[in-house]
Amino acid sequence: MRALRSRADENSSKMNDILRWAIRFHGHLGPFLVLGLKAGFRAVELFGRNPFKLKAIVTLRRKLPYTCFLDGIQFSTGCTLGKGNIEVVEGDGIKVRFIYEDKELTLRVKEKVLREALNAKDLERYASKLLNLPSSKLFIERH
Ligand SMILES: [Zn+2]
Repeated sequence: MRALRSRADENSSKMNDILRWAIRFHGHLGPFLVLGLKAGFRAVELFGRNPFKLKAIVTLRRKLPYTCFLDGIQFSTGCTLGKGNIEVVEGDGIKVRFIYEDKELTLRVKEKVLREALNAKDLERYASKLLNLPSSKLFIERH
């Protein structure tokens, strides 16, 4: 039990570090940044962190705040504009398709979460709440 707790503490302080750098990279803490981070972490969980082998194809509306999602993806996965392994396609909602070797993962932000993120009064608070939810609460997942 003790070991479990210290592992959890370690993970949460690592998460705080990552979050602090992500906010520095992106400029602020918002729900769309966090959704991008969470989607990216899910891909990393499945495929490992391979910034040169992973590819992300993101479908979303090309306007703020939707596009904040892209920075979360770039930060968490290392799929970046600079390396050319992130692609953006205009479309409704927010969806990301990860391709890693012969494997794929598609995550679509749940309607309810998207609506809440767009209407949140306190963005930082809502973003922090999202950060602590499991990916299954945020995305519809397809392999
Ligand atoms: Zn933002």
